[in-house]
Amino acid sequence: MPPIDPPAAYADVVARIARAAQAAGRDPRDVELVAVSKTQPWDAIAPVLAAGQKVFGENRVQEAMERWAERREGLTLHLIGPLQSNKAKEAVAFFDVIETLDREKIARVLAEEIQKAGKAPALYVQVNTGEEPQKAGVSPADADAFIAAARSTYGLNPVGLMCIPPAEEPPGPHFALLAKVAARNGLAKLSMGMSGDFETAIRFGATSVRVGSAVFGARG
Ligand SMILES: *Cc1c(COP(=O)(O)O)cnc(C)c1O
Repeated sequence: MPPIDPPAAYADVVARIARAAQAAGRDPRDVELVAVSKTQPWDAIAPVLAAGQKVFGENRVQEAMERWAERREGLTLHLIGPLQSNKAKEAVAFFDVIETLDREKIARVLAEEIQKAGKAPALYVQVNTGEEPQKAGVSPADADAFIAAARSTYGLNPVGLMCIPPAEEPPGPHFALLAKVAARNGLAKLSMGMSGDFETAIRFGATSVRVGSAVFGARG
């Protein structure tokens, strides 16, 4: 992949999001771009920040803190990678949104840390729509029970669902499944769609798309 010019690529992605929303009869303001800055050099991120992007996604707690702690003001940071329980305290303190609530142990630890911190990030439950053994997320069959347990057992209040469809399958059915599980559980937010499929995700109701390489260039 040739190097891209991040400000131009960013403007292009923003325009494509708006067009996809309009084509789906949706208000473009109802689809948020989470710019996935993981592993990107600061030279690629700075111009996107300067262009006005305020919402960023990161995979790892430590890396996110190194990149953003000194320039945290006014930004909204999403944790989109797997969360280890020994990082839950830092994650609750640092992130506005944690998209990877995916097992009871993490629900319990997050509930404890939220209690202690007196502040709660917005939480998404990650669903492994393709039931891939190597991928995190609750299976679609277990999602209703898991969401119910998050609410009643742990007192958490998830706002939405997140998925990463299998790379080798058409993503549409996975996005449709995520939307269905969210609707029957009364969850309004859908984090779905990445560089290769965000327009499809918007058609299926994504309220946020997580786009990395199409904005910043291929990761090293
Ligand atoms: C890296 C990553 C993305 C961004 O992927 P691109 O294909 O570069 O847009 C989105 N979501 C998650 C969970 C990721 O880990």
